[in-house]
Amino acid sequence: MLMSNKKYCQFCYKPLNGDEHGNRIYCDVSCYSYQKRLRGNDKYKDTKAQLAAFSKTDQILKSFYELYGPEKFIPAGLLDAAGMDWHINKKELIIEGLLSKQIDKYAYSLFQNKTVKIWKV
Ligand SMILES: [Zn+2]
Repeated sequence: MLMSNKKYCQFCYKPLNGDEHGNRIYCDVSCYSYQKRLRGNDKYKDTKAQLAAFSKTDQILKSFYELYGPEKFIPAGLLDAAGMDWHINKKELIIEGLLSKQIDKYAYSLFQNKTVKIWKV
């Protein structure tokens, strides 16, 4: 079928005339550069949001560490209430035989009984 060969600009969805067999994916340079700029902004936003999440989470660990000290088991619910993000970590490491998640300057272990131990790394 002739129709199925037709390609469309990936930005404005206009048909790409005379390019049925080419590699073109945008109708002109302005669609190309606009799409590229949008994608760039997205990447920037993701990185910024990610950095903010890390610094917020590290800040939460810091304040609980300073409040309770290194030897205390802290109820995980308190960190939850402070907005703790349990899904991010820079790396996992073993501290005093315990699997811990490092955020930045602080790391923590989350135990079965929903308590948390925080380390300064
Ligand atoms: Zn276009």
